[in-house]
Amino acid sequence: MIPMVDLKNQYQRLKAEIDAELAGVLESTHFILGPNVQAFEQEAAEYLGVKHAIGCASGTDALHLALRAAGIGPGDEVITPAFTFIATAEAIRYVGATPVFVDIRPDTFNLDADQVAAAISERTRALLPVHLFGQPADMPALMALAEKHDLKVIEDCAQSFGADIDGRMTGGIGLAGCHSFFPSKNLGAYGDGGMVTTNDDALAEHLRSLRNHGSKVRYHHDEIGYNSRLDEMQAAILRVKLRHIDEFNQGRRRAAHAYSEALKDVVTPPVEDGLGTHVYHQYTLLSERRDDIQKALQAADIACAIYYPIPLHQQKVFADECAGLSLPVTEDVSRRCLSLPIFPELADAQIETIVSTIHQVFV
Ligand SMILES: *Cc1c(COP(=O)(O)O)cnc(C)c1O
Repeated sequence: MIPMVDLKNQYQRLKAEIDAELAGVLESTHFILGPNVQAFEQEAAEYLGVKHAIGCASGTDALHLALRAAGIGPGDEVITPAFTFIATAEAIRYVGATPVFVDIRPDTFNLDADQVAAAISERTRALLPVHLFGQPADMPALMALAEKHDLKVIEDCAQSFGADIDGRMTGGIGLAGCHSFFPSKNLGAYGDGGMVTTNDDALAEHLRSLRNHGSKVRYHHDEIGYNSRLDEMQAAILRVKLRHIDEFNQGRRRAAHAYSEALKDVVTPPVEDGLGTHVYHQYTLLSERRDDIQKALQAADIACAIYYPIPLHQQKVFADECAGLSLPVTEDVSRRCLSLPIFPELADAQIETIVSTIHQVFV
């Protein structure tokens, strides 16, 4: 059996470090907003080259809190892709705003800046690009549009921890970056966790209050906030893993490049547009014979997955605002995409097995 991601393997490698840190948290009995969260926020901010990092309960909450802190609300439109995980658009709905789904580029699967420009209306207040599968979206073009139309840019970095454009990390380019530490993400905790990054002092202060019941001073509440904190156990684990993130991402890139070299004659491998560094949260190929490949892998006990089989504009929950909306590239890609197992520890022998199973489909 080859899984999509092998968390056991990674835990075994880091067990001594992680177990020692967890024991320390248990001994301290300081579980919420303690020294590990503070240290992790500082270390993550330093790694990402941003002024502020604010831990919260999940990537979904990071998006929700960032949109709220940015003042996005009812009547506002937020432009975002339909080819992403539901959480991206859920967060827009949480604040009462309307997601406006725009088509993607056929090569990178990220927002198409020309389509974004065409979708900007009087009511557009923000852009919410996703750095999908670990490849940075076209931030230079999107930031230029935002500047011209006075829009806020919130980056969905749930899949792109450690990806950069010319040395600027994703999450440090727009007004805010929203990160997820779901266990299978590039920087994964052992439970739920998330974080917002920003260079804006006022936004950071607001986010710290929002995640903790709208309170800046204990038992003084200035607004209705949330219980959305990163906990000490997760922060302790993340501090250990952050020290290895570059090595993790290099491992993912190595595996991806091996796949692409071996598969380029039979499928369309993922395209690196050269704008930034792709950290391969997913390795997602395109093929007309996607379903045949999926069947062959399943028969060989190799995991694979379709991210995403139903684009958001075709989901029942968005039926009202998306009636009659057609996004041809998104629809085509969701019909042909297939994600293969990818994780830093994926062995050459495993890659070999997967590749030869796929080649069998084409003989
Ligand atoms: C995982 C993910 C999220 C949500 O993160 P959670 O921590 O699971 O809440 C948001 N957006 C994208 C693109 C994701 O992949």
